[in-house]
Amino acid sequence: MQYYDRAETLSRQELNALQTVRLKSAMQRAARSPFYAAKFKQAGVTPRDIASPADIARLPLTVKAELRDNYPYGLLAVPREAMVRMHVSSGTTGTPTAIMHTQNDLNWWASLMARCMFMAGVRPHDVFQNLSGYGLFTGGLGIHYGAERLGCLTIPAGTGNSQRQIKIIRDFGTTALHIIPSYALHLGQVIASAGIDAKELTPRIALIGAEPHSEETRRRIEEMWALKAYNSYGLSEMNGPGVAFECLEQNGMHLWEDAYLAEILDPDTLEPVPDGVSGELVLTTLCREGMPVIRYRTRDITHFVAGECPCGRVHRRIGRITGRTDDMLIIKGVNIYPMQIEEVLMGMPEVGGNYQIVLESEGSIDQIKVKVEVKQEYFVEDMRALTGLQKKITAKLRDELLLTPRVELVEHKSLPQSDGKAKRVLDLREKSE
Ligand code: ADP
Ligand code: ZN
Repeated sequence: MQYYDRAETLSRQELNALQTVRLKSAMQRAARSPFYAAKFKQAGVTPRDIASPADIARLPLTVKAELRDNYPYGLLAVPREAMVRMHVSSGTTGTPTAIMHTQNDLNWWASLMARCMFMAGVRPHDVFQNLSGYGLFTGGLGIHYGAERLGCLTIPAGTGNSQRQIKIIRDFGTTALHIIPSYALHLGQVIASAGIDAKELTPRIALIGAEPHSEETRRRIEEMWALKAYNSYGLSEMNGPGVAFECLEQNGMHLWEDAYLAEILDPDTLEPVPDGVSGELVLTTLCREGMPVIRYRTRDITHFVAGECPCGRVHRRIGRITGRTDDMLIIKGVNIYPMQIEEVLMGMPEVGGNYQIVLESEGSIDQIKVKVEVKQEYFVEDMRALTGLQKKITAKLRDELLLTPRVELVEHKSLPQSDGKAKRVLDLREKSE
C-alpha cells in the first residue's frame, strides 16, 4: 500500500497521543481570541483538563450563529495582519460566515488535500481539471492548491460552460476531475447529446463532493463516465475540502484525525452515539493557527463506520452524509430527508439526472411535489407509458417516505441546473406570520 504522508500510518495509540497534545495547544491558541477566551472562562476549562481526546466533551460547543455574531474578526487568534486568505461558506443556509487563514494554515490545508487525492489514486503525472467555482467557495482554491502540491498539471476550469469543459478534457487529455455530483450527471448528458460517448474520454478518477448525494448517484456517474468516483467531504469552517475522503475501498471516508478531532453526537441529548448510529458530526481543528474552531456543530448527519479499513489507515471513517439536521422536511407530520427521495429516483433507470422537490401549501396543508426529469428515450409520446412510469415512481416514493407525494414527469434538461451546489428544494409554502 502506498501512502502520501506518514500521518496515514499512525496507530490508534499514536493518534490518541497526538490528538491529546494538539487539542491542548489548539485550546491555548483559541483562547487568544476574545470569543474563545470568554467561552472557556465561562465553562471553567483550561488545557490542563485535557488528558485524552475524550476529554473534549468538557469543552463548550460552537454553533454557526456564534460565528456569524462574531463576524468578521471575532474568532481570530492571531493579529489580522497575519492572515493571508479569506473564504466564506457558500451560504446554503442563510448568512455566510467568514473563515481566515494564515500561510501555515494554507500549507496544512494543501497537504491534507494532496493526501486525500493521493489516497484516491491521483498521481503527479495526472492532468487534473477542477470544475469548481473559484472565488469565495473553498472547492476552487482549496482543491487547486492540493492538486498542485501533489504535482498534477492543474487546470482551474471553474464551473459551467459545458462545451468549454469538454474541449479542455479532450485537448489536454484530462485524467482526473473534481466535480460536484449534480454537475457530473449534467455534463455527462451534455456530452451524450453532443454525440460523444463519455466513456471514451480520458478521465479515470472523479473526486465528487460538496453536496449530499447517494450511492446510486455515484454509481451512475461511474457508469456514465467509465471512471472511479470518490466522495470528498469538507466545510468552510474546517478549511473546506480535505476533512474526510474515501480511499480505494469506497466504503466510508477517512477523517484525518491528526488535523481534526471528530465526534458524532445525538443532536438532542448531545451525547456521543455508538458506531453505526447516525448523529451530528462535531469537529475541532487541531492544527489551525489563525482561526481555531472548537467543537463546531456541523449539522451534518453521518455515522462512524465500525471496524478496520483494509487499506490500513486507522483514521476513523464516516459514512455518507445523509443530510443536515436543518434539511429535514416535515410534511403532514412525516419527517422526510431529501436524500431519501434521491436514493429512490437515482435507482430507477428511466429517471434522468435532475429532479426538484417543490413544497406548496393547499389551504393549511403542506403538499410535496417531486418533479422528475425523464431520460430522453423514455419520454415518449405514449401517454400510457408515461402514466405507468409516474405511478411506478409514486409507489416507490410512497414506500420510502410513508406518504404519497405528487409526481410530475418533465422532459430531459428542463429543470434548473445550478453551476454550483444543486438546489433541490423549492419552498413555495405560504408562511404564516
Ligand atoms: P454551506 O454550509 O453554506 O453549504 P460550505 O461550502 O462550507 O458551505 O459547504 C459545506 C457543507 O456542504 C457541509 O457542511 C455539508 O453539508 C455539505 N457537503 C460537503 N461535502 C459533502 C459530501 N461529500 N457529501 C454531502 N454533503 C457534503
Ligand atoms: Zn481505507
